[in-house]
Amino acid sequence: MLGEWVIITPKRAKRPFQKKERQCPFCPGQKETQGDWKVLTLENRFPALSPGVGPMPLDGDIVMEAPAYGVCKVIVTSPEHDTQIEDMSDEQVGLIMNEYTRVFKELDALKGIEYVFQFENRGKAIGVSLNHPHAQVYAMPFIPPRIQREIYQAERLWESEEECVICQIISNELKSATSRIITKTDNFLAVVPFFARLPYEVHIYPFSHVSSLLQMKEQLLELGKIIRDIARRYNKVFDENAYIMAFHTRPSKRKYPYWHFHIEFYPPWRDRTRIKYLGGVETGSFTYTNDSSPEAIAKELREAV
Ligand SMILES: [Zn+2]
Ligand SMILES: [Zn+2]
Repeated sequence: MLGEWVIITPKRAKRPFQKKERQCPFCPGQKETQGDWKVLTLENRFPALSPGVGPMPLDGDIVMEAPAYGVCKVIVTSPEHDTQIEDMSDEQVGLIMNEYTRVFKELDALKGIEYVFQFENRGKAIGVSLNHPHAQVYAMPFIPPRIQREIYQAERLWESEEECVICQIISNELKSATSRIITKTDNFLAVVPFFARLPYEVHIYPFSHVSSLLQMKEQLLELGKIIRDIARRYNKVFDENAYIMAFHTRPSKRKYPYWHFHIEFYPPWRDRTRIKYLGGVETGSFTYTNDSSPEAIAKELREAV
Protein backbone atom coordinates (compact mmCIF):
# COMPACT_ATOMS: atom_id res chain seq x y z
CA MET A 1 0.00 0.00 0.00
CA LEU A 2 2.92 2.34 0.67
CA GLY A 3 4.99 1.20 -2.30
CA GLU A 4 7.51 -0.43 0.01
CA TRP A 5 8.59 -3.97 0.80
CA VAL A 6 7.82 -5.80 4.02
CA ILE A 7 9.97 -8.83 4.79
CA ILE A 8 7.67 -11.50 6.25
CA THR A 9 9.73 -13.98 8.29
CA PRO A 10 7.72 -16.16 10.67
CA LYS A 11 10.71 -18.56 10.93
CA ARG A 12 12.76 -15.85 12.64
CA ALA A 13 10.44 -16.05 15.65
CA LYS A 14 12.34 -19.23 16.55
CA ARG A 15 15.76 -17.53 16.69
CA PRO A 16 17.65 -17.88 19.97
CA PHE A 17 17.19 -15.41 22.77
CA GLN A 18 20.15 -15.93 25.01
CA LYS A 19 19.42 -16.98 28.55
CA LYS A 20 22.70 -18.34 29.88
CA GLU A 21 26.19 -17.30 28.89
CA ARG A 22 27.29 -20.79 27.93
CA GLN A 23 24.64 -20.91 25.23
CA CYS A 24 26.15 -17.97 23.32
CA PRO A 25 26.72 -19.11 19.71
CA PHE A 26 29.23 -16.29 19.06
CA CYS A 27 31.72 -17.16 21.82
CA PRO A 28 34.87 -18.90 20.51
CA GLY A 29 34.81 -22.69 20.37
CA GLN A 30 31.16 -23.06 19.35
CA LYS A 31 30.13 -24.88 16.19
CA GLU A 32 30.65 -21.88 13.89
CA THR A 33 33.32 -20.06 15.87
CA GLN A 34 36.25 -22.51 15.90
CA GLY A 35 39.83 -21.39 15.46
CA ASP A 36 41.70 -18.23 16.25
CA TRP A 37 39.92 -15.01 15.25
CA LYS A 38 39.44 -11.44 16.35
CA VAL A 39 36.55 -10.48 14.08
CA LEU A 40 34.43 -13.15 12.44
CA THR A 41 31.69 -12.95 9.81
CA LEU A 42 29.02 -15.66 9.87
CA GLU A 43 25.98 -16.46 7.82
CA ASN A 44 22.87 -15.42 9.75
CA ARG A 45 21.33 -18.73 10.83
CA PHE A 46 17.89 -17.15 10.89
CA PRO A 47 18.06 -14.98 7.76
CA ALA A 48 15.27 -12.61 6.82
CA LEU A 49 16.56 -12.79 3.24
CA SER A 50 18.23 -15.73 1.49
CA PRO A 51 20.27 -16.13 -1.71
CA GLY A 52 18.79 -19.54 -2.61
CA VAL A 53 15.54 -18.17 -4.02
CA GLY A 54 17.25 -16.20 -6.81
CA PRO A 55 16.91 -12.49 -7.73
CA MET A 56 13.44 -11.00 -7.46
CA PRO A 57 11.28 -10.44 -10.56
CA LEU A 58 10.65 -6.78 -9.88
CA ASP A 59 9.84 -5.61 -13.40
CA GLY A 60 6.04 -5.80 -13.16
CA ASP A 61 3.88 -2.77 -12.37
CA ILE A 62 2.65 -3.87 -8.98
CA VAL A 63 4.33 -6.88 -7.44
CA MET A 64 2.29 -8.21 -4.54
CA GLU A 65 4.61 -10.99 -3.44
CA ALA A 66 8.13 -12.17 -4.20
CA PRO A 67 10.55 -14.58 -2.57
CA ALA A 68 12.84 -12.79 -0.12
CA TYR A 69 16.11 -12.80 -2.05
CA GLY A 70 19.21 -11.44 -0.40
CA VAL A 71 22.00 -12.22 2.03
CA CYS A 72 22.09 -11.73 5.80
CA LYS A 73 25.37 -11.91 7.67
CA VAL A 74 26.50 -11.35 11.22
CA ILE A 75 29.85 -9.72 12.01
CA VAL A 76 31.00 -10.86 15.45
CA THR A 77 33.08 -7.87 16.47
CA SER A 78 35.01 -9.43 19.36
CA PRO A 79 35.81 -12.91 20.66
CA GLU A 80 35.07 -11.55 24.15
CA HIS A 81 31.45 -11.89 25.16
CA ASP A 82 31.34 -8.84 27.43
CA THR A 83 33.64 -6.37 25.71
CA GLN A 84 31.62 -3.70 23.95
CA ILE A 85 33.18 -1.25 21.50
CA GLU A 86 33.83 1.45 24.11
CA ASP A 87 36.33 -0.89 25.81
CA MET A 88 38.06 -2.16 22.68
CA SER A 89 41.63 -1.37 21.60
CA ASP A 90 42.49 0.72 18.55
CA GLU A 91 43.70 -2.47 16.89
CA GLN A 92 40.36 -4.22 17.39
CA VAL A 93 38.40 -1.17 16.20
CA GLY A 94 40.57 -1.09 13.05
CA LEU A 95 39.93 -4.79 12.40
CA ILE A 96 36.16 -4.25 12.74
CA MET A 97 36.16 -1.38 10.25
CA ASN A 98 38.24 -3.41 7.78
CA GLU A 99 35.76 -6.26 8.07
CA TYR A 100 32.77 -3.94 7.52
CA THR A 101 34.52 -2.77 4.37
CA ARG A 102 35.45 -6.24 3.15
CA VAL A 103 31.90 -7.57 3.61
CA PHE A 104 30.41 -4.46 1.98
CA LYS A 105 32.63 -4.90 -1.07
CA GLU A 106 31.74 -8.57 -1.43
CA LEU A 107 27.95 -8.14 -1.18
CA ASP A 108 27.84 -4.87 -3.13
CA ALA A 109 29.03 -6.77 -6.21
CA LEU A 110 26.44 -9.58 -6.03
CA LYS A 111 23.91 -9.95 -8.80
CA GLY A 112 20.42 -8.77 -7.85
CA ILE A 113 21.58 -6.81 -4.80
CA GLU A 114 20.52 -3.16 -4.81
CA TYR A 115 21.52 -2.11 -1.30
CA VAL A 116 23.94 -3.34 1.35
CA PHE A 117 22.69 -2.24 4.73
CA GLN A 118 25.11 -2.52 7.65
CA PHE A 119 23.93 -1.88 11.18
CA GLU A 120 24.28 -2.73 14.82
CA ASN A 121 21.46 -3.31 17.28
CA ARG A 122 22.68 -2.92 20.81
CA GLY A 123 21.08 -3.32 24.23
CA LYS A 124 18.09 -4.98 25.85
CA ALA A 125 16.03 -1.80 25.53
CA ILE A 126 15.76 -2.35 21.78
CA GLY A 127 15.22 -6.09 22.08
CA VAL A 128 18.67 -7.46 21.20
CA SER A 129 18.56 -11.24 21.42
CA LEU A 130 22.30 -11.84 22.02
CA ASN A 131 24.58 -9.68 24.19
CA HIS A 132 27.80 -10.74 22.47
CA PRO A 133 29.02 -7.70 20.48
CA HIS A 134 27.99 -8.12 16.86
CA ALA A 135 26.82 -6.14 13.86
CA GLN A 136 24.63 -7.24 10.98
CA VAL A 137 24.54 -6.91 7.23
CA TYR A 138 21.45 -7.20 5.04
CA ALA A 139 22.15 -7.28 1.31
CA MET A 140 18.75 -6.34 -0.09
CA PRO A 141 17.19 -6.78 -3.54
CA PHE A 142 15.71 -3.24 -3.33
CA ILE A 143 16.68 0.20 -2.06
CA PRO A 144 15.00 0.60 1.34
CA PRO A 145 12.51 3.50 1.78
CA ARG A 146 14.59 5.58 4.16
CA ILE A 147 17.47 5.57 1.69
CA GLN A 148 15.08 6.35 -1.18
CA ARG A 149 13.88 9.41 0.74
CA GLU A 150 17.46 10.55 1.26
CA ILE A 151 18.18 9.99 -2.43
CA TYR A 152 15.13 12.04 -3.39
CA GLN A 153 16.20 14.98 -1.22
CA ALA A 154 19.88 14.80 -2.15
CA GLU A 155 19.12 14.49 -5.86
CA ARG A 156 16.80 17.52 -5.82
CA LEU A 157 19.42 19.80 -4.29
CA TRP A 158 22.15 18.37 -6.52
CA GLU A 159 20.12 19.07 -9.63
CA SER A 160 18.87 22.52 -8.66
CA GLU A 161 21.99 23.95 -6.98
CA GLU A 162 24.77 21.44 -7.69
CA GLU A 163 25.27 21.07 -3.98
CA CYS A 164 25.42 18.06 -1.70
CA VAL A 165 22.93 18.28 1.14
CA ILE A 166 25.33 16.78 3.69
CA CYS A 167 28.25 18.98 2.61
CA GLN A 168 25.84 21.89 3.25
CA ILE A 169 24.76 20.56 6.64
CA ILE A 170 28.43 20.18 7.65
CA SER A 171 29.27 23.71 6.62
CA ASN A 172 26.20 25.09 8.44
CA GLU A 173 27.02 23.18 11.62
CA LEU A 174 30.62 24.44 11.58
CA LYS A 175 29.36 28.03 11.26
CA SER A 176 26.44 27.75 13.68
CA ALA A 177 26.69 29.82 16.86
CA THR A 178 24.39 27.49 18.82
CA SER A 179 26.51 24.39 18.57
CA ARG A 180 25.06 20.98 17.89
CA ILE A 181 28.56 19.54 17.43
CA ILE A 182 29.54 16.78 19.86
CA THR A 183 33.05 16.21 18.62
CA LYS A 184 35.15 16.49 15.50
CA THR A 185 38.34 14.84 14.31
CA ASP A 186 40.56 15.55 11.29
CA ASN A 187 38.14 13.87 8.92
CA PHE A 188 34.80 13.43 10.73
CA LEU A 189 32.10 15.43 12.46
CA ALA A 190 29.61 14.08 15.04
CA VAL A 191 26.47 16.16 15.59
CA VAL A 192 22.95 16.03 16.92
CA PRO A 193 21.26 17.12 13.69
CA PHE A 194 18.83 20.04 13.91
CA PHE A 195 16.23 17.69 12.37
CA ALA A 196 16.77 14.87 14.93
CA ARG A 197 13.67 12.70 15.23
CA LEU A 198 14.84 11.10 18.46
CA PRO A 199 16.26 12.96 21.47
CA TYR A 200 19.70 11.28 21.38
CA GLU A 201 20.03 10.84 17.63
CA VAL A 202 23.62 11.41 16.49
CA HIS A 203 25.04 11.56 12.98
CA ILE A 204 28.66 11.10 11.94
CA TYR A 205 29.64 12.77 8.66
CA PRO A 206 32.97 12.50 6.85
CA PHE A 207 34.19 15.97 5.83
CA SER A 208 35.10 14.67 2.40
CA HIS A 209 32.34 13.89 -0.09
CA VAL A 210 32.71 10.09 -0.16
CA SER A 211 29.90 7.67 -0.91
CA SER A 212 30.95 4.41 0.75
CA LEU A 213 33.50 2.76 3.04
CA LEU A 214 35.46 1.75 -0.07
CA GLN A 215 36.64 5.35 -0.47
CA MET A 216 37.79 5.71 3.13
CA LYS A 217 40.69 3.27 3.33
CA GLU A 218 43.04 5.73 5.05
CA GLN A 219 40.36 6.95 7.44
CA LEU A 220 38.71 3.70 8.55
CA LEU A 221 40.47 3.58 11.92
CA GLU A 222 39.59 7.21 12.59
CA LEU A 223 35.95 6.46 11.72
CA GLY A 224 35.98 3.46 14.08
CA LYS A 225 37.42 5.63 16.84
CA ILE A 226 34.72 8.28 16.52
CA ILE A 227 32.05 5.51 16.63
CA ARG A 228 33.73 4.26 19.83
CA ASP A 229 33.75 7.81 21.17
CA ILE A 230 29.97 8.17 20.68
CA ALA A 231 29.36 4.78 22.34
CA ARG A 232 31.45 5.95 25.32
CA ARG A 233 29.42 9.14 25.64
CA TYR A 234 26.15 7.20 25.52
CA ASN A 235 27.55 4.99 28.29
CA LYS A 236 27.90 8.07 30.46
CA VAL A 237 24.45 9.52 29.86
CA PHE A 238 22.31 6.35 29.92
CA ASP A 239 21.99 3.90 32.80
CA GLU A 240 21.99 1.11 30.25
CA ASN A 241 23.57 1.64 26.85
CA ALA A 242 21.33 0.89 23.89
CA TYR A 243 21.23 2.16 20.34
CA ILE A 244 20.77 1.29 16.72
CA MET A 245 23.71 2.32 14.55
CA ALA A 246 23.00 2.48 10.81
CA PHE A 247 25.50 3.00 7.99
CA HIS A 248 23.96 5.00 5.16
CA THR A 249 26.02 4.09 2.16
CA ARG A 250 25.25 4.62 -1.51
CA PRO A 251 23.08 2.01 -3.28
CA SER A 252 24.81 -0.69 -5.29
CA LYS A 253 24.14 -0.80 -8.98
CA ARG A 254 24.73 2.66 -10.45
CA LYS A 255 26.54 5.89 -9.64
CA TYR A 256 25.09 8.33 -7.13
CA PRO A 257 27.29 11.44 -7.43
CA TYR A 258 25.32 13.32 -4.76
CA TRP A 259 25.56 10.57 -2.16
CA HIS A 260 27.54 11.41 0.99
CA PHE A 261 28.25 8.44 3.28
CA HIS A 262 27.19 8.89 6.91
CA ILE A 263 26.36 6.98 10.06
CA GLU A 264 23.23 7.51 12.15
CA PHE A 265 22.64 6.46 15.76
CA TYR A 266 19.14 6.04 17.16
CA PRO A 267 19.12 5.37 20.90
CA PRO A 268 15.71 4.48 22.38
CA TRP A 269 16.13 6.75 25.43
CA ARG A 270 14.56 10.13 26.16
CA ASP A 271 16.74 10.57 29.26
CA ARG A 272 18.95 8.45 31.51
CA THR A 273 16.27 5.83 32.24
CA ARG A 274 13.09 6.58 30.32
CA ILE A 275 12.26 5.11 26.92
CA LYS A 276 11.09 7.34 24.08
CA TYR A 277 8.08 5.42 22.79
CA LEU A 278 6.80 5.98 19.31
CA GLY A 279 3.18 7.07 19.67
CA GLY A 280 0.24 7.67 17.40
CA VAL A 281 1.68 10.67 15.57
CA GLU A 282 4.96 8.87 14.88
CA THR A 283 3.61 5.44 13.98
CA GLY A 284 0.27 6.44 12.48
CA SER A 285 1.41 9.45 10.48
CA PHE A 286 5.24 9.09 10.23
CA THR A 287 5.59 12.53 11.90
CA TYR A 288 8.04 12.74 14.76
CA THR A 289 7.70 14.93 17.84
CA ASN A 290 11.01 15.43 19.59
CA ASP A 291 10.47 17.16 22.91
CA SER A 292 14.16 17.78 23.57
CA SER A 293 16.48 20.46 22.24
CA PRO A 294 19.22 19.22 19.88
CA GLU A 295 21.53 21.95 21.25
CA ALA A 296 20.99 20.84 24.88
CA ILE A 297 21.52 17.16 24.02
CA ALA A 298 24.66 18.04 22.03
CA LYS A 299 25.99 19.93 25.06
CA GLU A 300 25.23 17.00 27.36
CA LEU A 301 27.03 14.55 25.03
CA ARG A 302 29.90 16.99 24.44
CA GLU A 303 30.51 17.17 28.17
CA ALA A 304 30.11 13.40 28.72
CA VAL A 305 33.81 12.52 28.66
ZN1 LIG B 1 29.37 -14.79 23.58
ZN1 LIG C 1 28.77 15.83 0.29
